[in-house]
Amino acid sequence: MDEMNYQLSLLNSMNQKLLDNDKMFRMICGTSANTFLYYDFDKDHFEALGNYDHFFDFMIEKEEDLNHMIEMFLPEGHQTLENTLYPEKEGKESLSCECRMRTGKWVGIEVTVSYEGKSKPSEKIIRFHDATKEKEQTENLRYMAYYDSLTGLYNRNYFVRLLSDWVRKAQEENATIEMLCLKIDDFKTLNDGLGMIAGDEILQNLGFHLRGFQAEDCLVSHFHSSVYFMAFYNQPAKKGLEFFDDLSRYLKRPIPITGRTDINITVSAGEARYPESAKNSVDLINCAEIVLEQKRKSETGMIYFFEAPVLDDFMHNIALENDLKHALEENAFELYYQPQYDALTKKLRGVEALIRWKHQEGYYISPARFIPLAERDGLIQPIGRWVLEEALSVYSGWMKHFDYKLVLSVNISAMQFKQDDFLDTLFDLIEEYEINPAYLELEITESVLIDDLDSVLDYMHRLREHGIKISLDDFGTGYSSLSYLKNLPIDTLKIDKSFIDTVIDDSSTRIITESIISMVKKLGFETVAEGVENNQQFEYLQSIECDNIQGYLLGKPMPGFKIEELLVELSS
Ligand code: C2E
Ligand code: CA
Ligand code: CA
Repeated sequence: MDEMNYQLSLLNSMNQKLLDNDKMFRMICGTSANTFLYYDFDKDHFEALGNYDHFFDFMIEKEEDLNHMIEMFLPEGHQTLENTLYPEKEGKESLSCECRMRTGKWVGIEVTVSYEGKSKPSEKIIRFHDATKEKEQTENLRYMAYYDSLTGLYNRNYFVRLLSDWVRKAQEENATIEMLCLKIDDFKTLNDGLGMIAGDEILQNLGFHLRGFQAEDCLVSHFHSSVYFMAFYNQPAKKGLEFFDDLSRYLKRPIPITGRTDINITVSAGEARYPESAKNSVDLINCAEIVLEQKRKSETGMIYFFEAPVLDDFMHNIALENDLKHALEENAFELYYQPQYDALTKKLRGVEALIRWKHQEGYYISPARFIPLAERDGLIQPIGRWVLEEALSVYSGWMKHFDYKLVLSVNISAMQFKQDDFLDTLFDLIEEYEINPAYLELEITESVLIDDLDSVLDYMHRLREHGIKISLDDFGTGYSSLSYLKNLPIDTLKIDKSFIDTVIDDSSTRIITESIISMVKKLGFETVAEGVENNQQFEYLQSIECDNIQGYLLGKPMPGFKIEELLVELSS
């Protein structure tokens, strides 16, 4: 009896343990986002564990119920599911797949079979887990890796990858690829003026339009900011040009901007082609972009075609920029001074300081060539400072030796002028070299006035309060509007050489020049004509009462010691 009791309580406690274990397993399975189907081959019976309701609303009890389960999935996954659910048919231990349910849910399915002996399947576990989140995340990642989120176009990386494939294919098939780099003109101004949100709307509008051309033989990409790229595979020679003409016509229609008046944009394009312009994807992209950047400066709203000299120019500029970086350290700059004379009395009025760069290979490079490069990469700051310091120190030496009221004109580039510390640096130098500010004239061009006019005007007023003169250089090449002159705090106006060049032969230039001089005189500004090369021009300018003359006729730019010689003569 004792033995019986003992056996019974042993059985009870084992049962209890099993029940406890079962409860524990069920609890664990219930808290996971999985559901498990346990299948016993001998009994042909399924048992469900875990979060079953999350996936199915019917019971799976027998093997044939699996067909009903398969029906819950989208038809394109049926075959995959059927292959996965029965590893035993292939004698395998496990198989897995991912399929989408008709409800939209992505489900990961893993099936594991255990065998009795070598080949008799005994048990099977099918695990279902909700893979929707993972799938969305990978989809998002995939999207981010391939597409530009603003426009839905291919992003730069993916475009380059696809283009590389195209280049390989074109090599094999002897095909051509035409590449367009498209850039919205003046986008920065639009973006600054309208705000970033409106700017994005413009980018999207153009992006959506371009997306319509995406096809098997046309790749479209949004690279960055206002730059888009398109590639055409093996199309007729004029495809790019035709496309650009259509695009320009499309852009004649204004773009609607939320909460604002519609706006019009223009786009410029650079074109390059495989194999003529470049032999690989990166060079092809660069060629299209380089031709656009080089040529767009002259006129916007146009398409420019790549040709080898454009690349040569570009490479040359890069080499020059590099050399320019070292020029200051190597003392490769000099200042020359060009005299300016009073037109009536022919008395020396002043000198304009002009920078000279002697390249390490011995030749001089024109400032008209390197100053724009220096402005582009920020080198204009140290160069401009060097010019100011050199000019003021030399001029201060002259003023100590000679009793002569000489004006010193110094060119100040727009970027230098707008530098925060420009005024302080200038005032410090004036003090250090004990310069009389009334004889210092800063030459600025109309480009200074393009943006942020208020702060530029403020700067100009502060300069004049300090007694410094301001001269407007190259007048006639920029906006050239006489009406805005009256609002500018300037002292001198320099009439550009291009007027002087044609003033003798062209009657309309004469009319313009005469009206400039008479108007400017009324405003109380002094006038300087630059680039006067012959007596005819000189006499004409004298007759229309231009105040001062500068040009090769009376004196080319010359080293400082030559000016000293002039001053010696004039003082004796
Ligand atoms: P710019 O300020 O208009 O200077 C006048 C230019 O015309 C000078 O060229 C001068 O040599 C040239 N020139 C003067 N008279 C005649 C003439 O009768 N015939 C001809 N054919 N040319 C004449 P340069 O020295 O080559 O300077 C070119 C430009 O480079 C300057 O034009 C100015 O914009 C810029 N630049 C020169 N030096 C500096 C500088 O120190 N700082 C800055 N920011 N720019 C400078
Ligand atoms: Ca000048
Ligand atoms: Ca000038």
